[in-house]
Amino acid sequence: MMSEQVTEIKGVGEIAAENLASMNIHTIADLLFYFPYRYDVYEIKPLSELIHDDKVTIEGRVIHDPSLTFYGRKKSRLSFSVEVEGVAIKAVMFNRAFAKKQIQADNIVTLTGKWDAHRLQITVSHYSLGPIDDQKSINPVYSLKGDFTNIKLKKLIRTALQTYSGDIKEILPDSYLQSYKLPNRKDAVSTMHFPKDRIALKHARRRFTYEEFLLFQLKMQLLRKLKRESTSGNTQYYDSTKVQEFIGDFPFALTNAQQKSLQQILADLKSPFRMNRLLQGDVGSGKTAVAAIGLYASITAGKQGALMVPTEILAEQHYQSLKELFGDRATIVLLTGSVKGKKRKEILATIENKDADIVVGTHALIQDEVIFHDLGFAIVDEQHRFGVEQRRILRDKGLNPDVLFMTATPIPRTLAITAFGDMDVSVIDEMPVGRKEIETLWVKENTFERILNFIENRVAEGEQAYVISPLIEESDKLDIQNAVDLFHQLQEYFPPEVKVGLMHGRLPAAEKDGVMKEFAANDIQVLVSTTVVEVGVNVPNATIMVIYDAERFGLSQLHQLRGRVGRGSKQSYCILIAEPKSEVGKERMRIMTETTNGFELSEQDLQLRGPGDFFGKKQSGVPEFKVADMIHDYRALETARNDAQKIIESNQLNNTEEFYPLKEFLEQQFSFEDKLD
Ligand code: ADP
Ligand code: MG
Repeated sequence: MMSEQVTEIKGVGEIAAENLASMNIHTIADLLFYFPYRYDVYEIKPLSELIHDDKVTIEGRVIHDPSLTFYGRKKSRLSFSVEVEGVAIKAVMFNRAFAKKQIQADNIVTLTGKWDAHRLQITVSHYSLGPIDDQKSINPVYSLKGDFTNIKLKKLIRTALQTYSGDIKEILPDSYLQSYKLPNRKDAVSTMHFPKDRIALKHARRRFTYEEFLLFQLKMQLLRKLKRESTSGNTQYYDSTKVQEFIGDFPFALTNAQQKSLQQILADLKSPFRMNRLLQGDVGSGKTAVAAIGLYASITAGKQGALMVPTEILAEQHYQSLKELFGDRATIVLLTGSVKGKKRKEILATIENKDADIVVGTHALIQDEVIFHDLGFAIVDEQHRFGVEQRRILRDKGLNPDVLFMTATPIPRTLAITAFGDMDVSVIDEMPVGRKEIETLWVKENTFERILNFIENRVAEGEQAYVISPLIEESDKLDIQNAVDLFHQLQEYFPPEVKVGLMHGRLPAAEKDGVMKEFAANDIQVLVSTTVVEVGVNVPNATIMVIYDAERFGLSQLHQLRGRVGRGSKQSYCILIAEPKSEVGKERMRIMTETTNGFELSEQDLQLRGPGDFFGKKQSGVPEFKVADMIHDYRALETARNDAQKIIESNQLNNTEEFYPLKEFLEQQFSFEDKLD
C-alpha cells in the first residue's frame, strides 16, 4: 500500500526515517513521488575537446589498482590512472575509500569531474563501472537533507519500486493518455528516478507536468463551482432600458473590449450566483467607465454600490468623475479618513438609510461604523493594494454582494489562470480611439539639462510634466530628501513663470490633496514626486513623465508610472533616466522603449522575474509545482485548463467511469470544505 510508512521498507530504521521525514517523506507514496530536482547529463568528449577547469566525463581502462592514502581525521585520497585514447590520465578521488575495492586494473570505468588540462588529471566527483550507456549518462540529483546521500536515496527508491510499483494506479483516463501520448503513471514514476534515456525522461516529465496542471485546474474550478453554488439566490433584476440610456449619455462610445467586459459583468449581476470577477486593463483603458455602468445597473435593481480605492487622492478623483457621469441619476458620497466630525456622521447616516446609492472611499469603507442598507455590488480598485482580509470585510458589508476586482497591472495569462483560477476574468485589451501612443526614451543621467530644456519648451506650449525623484532603496527618508533637493534644483533652473510643485508620502493628506489639485488645475506645471503618484491620478494635460533611476523599478511599476501621461489627446513622452549594470536591467529598459501594451509587457516581466517574484513575495498565490514550469510549459497549462473546464462542466467526474479514479484521487488530496470562507 502506498500509504504505508517508509519504515515498512527493509533497512529503513528510525534514523533513516527521521532523515526522510525532514525531507517531508513519510509514506511510500511520498518517497516514490520525491522526484529529482535536476538531472546531470554526462557526455563523453574526445580529450582534445576537454576544457581546462570544466566538469567533464571520460571513459577509459584502469591501468593499475588504485592506491589509497589517509590523512587528517577520516580523510582519504584514492589515486589511479586510466588510459584514454592511448594517453595515461591521472584520476584522484577524495574521501571515497570504499571505491578502492570496485576500481580494478583493466576494468573500464566512466569518470566525471573537474578537468586539469595541464596535468592531464581529473578530480572525480562521480564514477561508474563499465562503459557509459544511456542510463548511466543521466544521473538524477535529489535535494537532500540530513546525512542521506544521493546514492543511498536512489537505492531506497529502487527497493521501494520493486515492492510497491504495482500499487501506483493510473488516475488519468485512458483516452487522455492515448491522445496526448503520455506514459502511464507507474512507468513514468520509475522513469523519473531511473531514466532509460533522454526521450523516456522527456515523456515522463511531460506526463507529470500535465498531471500537475490538470489536478490544479480541477481543484480551482471545483472550488469556483462550489463558491458559486453556495451563494445562489442573489439575482439583481436591473433595468436594461435605463442602463442603455445611461450609456447613451456618455460623451464617447464604448470600445469593443469595454462592451464585452460589461456584458460579462451584467450577466453576473443577473445570474443567481455571486460575482467573483477580476477586471484587468491598462491604465486609461476605461475600466472605471465600465464599473460605473455596473454600479448603475445595481442601483436600478434597488441596491447600493461601493467603490473602494487605495488612496484618498484616488477616492476623490473617482468621486468627482462618477458624479459627472451620473449627474442626478444617483446620490454619490465620499468616505475617507479626512471626512470627519458632523460631516462624517451625516454621510454614515445616508449609507445606512439608503439615501446614498454609491459610496466611494478608501479603507474607511470597511470600518465597523459603516453600515449599508443593502449593498449589492462592491468594487475594489487596484485590488492588489488590499489584503485578503480587507476584501472579505467589504464583501461582508452586504448579503452576498457581487464583487468586482479591478487591476491596472495586467497579469500574464499563465499566472491569471493559476493564481486566479477560481475567479472569472475579464480583460480590456484595447485603448479608446484617438489616444496617441506614448513615446518612451531611455537616456543617461548626463542628458538632464537637455531634458529640462525639453520640459521647458513643452510647458511653454501649455503642457505639464512629472519628474519622479531618485530612489534610495529601503529609505523612505532619503527618498524624500532626494525629492526635496531635486525640487529646489528645478525651481532654480526654471524661470519664475514655470511653477514647480513637490509631492511625497510624508506630506499631510490635506497638503497632498492641495498639491494634486494645483497640478490638476495647471497652477503647477512641473511636479517633482516620489513614486506616490503611481496610483491612478488623472491629469490629462500632463504629457511628460521623467523617471530617475528607472533601473530600480520593476516593469509593471514603470508601466504604471508611465500611465500617468498619455491620458489626453496630445503626444506624450516617458523619459527613463537609467544606467543599469545588469543585463536584466538593460533588458527592462529595452522592453519599456519597445512596448506600451501592458499585457505584452507583463508577459515579458514574468519571463524576466519568474512566477514567484511577479506579485512580490507576500501574497503570491502562485502554486509550486514539482515538475511543471508555468512559463515553459504554458501550452500544457492551457490544455489542462481547457480539459478541466470540460470535465467540470459536463460533470464527468461523476458520470463517466473513466474519470472515477481521478475523482477519488482529488478527494483524497484536497479538502474543499475548508476553502469555502
Ligand atoms: P481606467 O479606470 O481603466 O484607468 P478610465 O475609465 O478612468 O480608465 O478612463 C480613462 C479616461 O478615458 C477617462 O477620462 C474616461 O472618461 C475616458 N474613456 C473611457 N472609455 C472611453 C471610450 N470608450 N472612449 C473614449 N474615452 C473613454
Ligand atoms: Mg481606474
